[in-house]
Amino acid sequence: MSDVKDYDVVIVGGGPGGLCAGLYSARANRKTVCLEKYTPGGQIAITGEVEDYLGFKKIQGAELAMKFTEHAKIFGLEIQMEEVQEVYVEGDYRFARCASGNVYRGKAIIVSTGGSPVFLGVPGEKEYSGKGVSYCAICDGAFFRGQVIAVVGGGDAAVEEGTYLTKFASKVYIIHRRDKLRAQKIIQQRAFDNDKVEFIWDTVVESINGNSKQVTDLSLKNVKTGEKSTLEVGAVFPYIGFHPNSNIFKDEIKTDAGGYIITDQRMETSIKGIFACGDVRSQLVRQITNAVGDGTTAAVAAEKHIEELEDKLKQRI
Ligand code: NAP
Repeated sequence: MSDVKDYDVVIVGGGPGGLCAGLYSARANRKTVCLEKYTPGGQIAITGEVEDYLGFKKIQGAELAMKFTEHAKIFGLEIQMEEVQEVYVEGDYRFARCASGNVYRGKAIIVSTGGSPVFLGVPGEKEYSGKGVSYCAICDGAFFRGQVIAVVGGGDAAVEEGTYLTKFASKVYIIHRRDKLRAQKIIQQRAFDNDKVEFIWDTVVESINGNSKQVTDLSLKNVKTGEKSTLEVGAVFPYIGFHPNSNIFKDEIKTDAGGYIITDQRMETSIKGIFACGDVRSQLVRQITNAVGDGTTAAVAAEKHIEELEDKLKQRI
């Protein structure tokens, strides 16, 4: 028999969007819980420096995550370490069922589950995960001090984290499948200006190779010429995008072709009383700033939903 815990608002995921939604809901005197399977902060907790969040010229991602968490807690947001496996509706209430067996019941649910790294899907990637294949520069970069490191991708994450890795590496190769980067110009320029960064254009990784202990080299292919080559590296960090963590819904929820949750302007999903914010939501930009904005809107809209629901429940008495 599972333990059902009652709240007004249940927030699934503790990234910037979820924490900001939590701050607003708790501040509106709603009993609010945020369920997070790791430590709160989401991707920013494992990001090096953040320099594009208004009011903070430069701050470590982990420190910003801590500030967000502390701030939301001041207003009474409860944070529980839980892995949510399923979100569903029963009657007037919304439920989040967790791996622990606990079930959280809310009058509204705000989903802020972000995304997970996309895997390259090449031979050796799984085998050498934790032995030179990593998806978190800030967590693992220091293990490869003085070594040659490769980063794969051409977006903000690849170029920014590739530049960050020069703190440790003797050299960083950024391998990109095209000859033009997707990353913001300021992030690109920093990498171009860094002597330790070298780009390998129009190239894909065909396999990650190594010995019994660690990655030793990558098999590469130039997609324009077909030429194959080997690059000796001690580690490889694939940063080829994120896919949304939107597979926790029991009932059908509308998503776009990429699996990102479609919401209206109020951040409400196709299921009434379930809201979504941050990187899991279908939108053009995925930044801390708009995750926080989404969280604000979701919390205010959830409050309106709860007020309507409470009126409806009163009329039934
Ligand atoms: P992204 O913007 O989707 O970029 C993914 C990159 O990986 C693209 O360059 C893509 O190549 C490449 N790629 C995709 N699949 C590949 C494959 N199978 N093999 C090789 N390369 C592949 O992802 P992201 O960089 O992780 O960023 C995700 C979101 O977070 C973005 O909205 C980004 O703006 C945001 N973000 C912002 C910051 C910041 O502002 N400081 C930092 C990190 C992330 P193509 O270009 O050819 O498609």
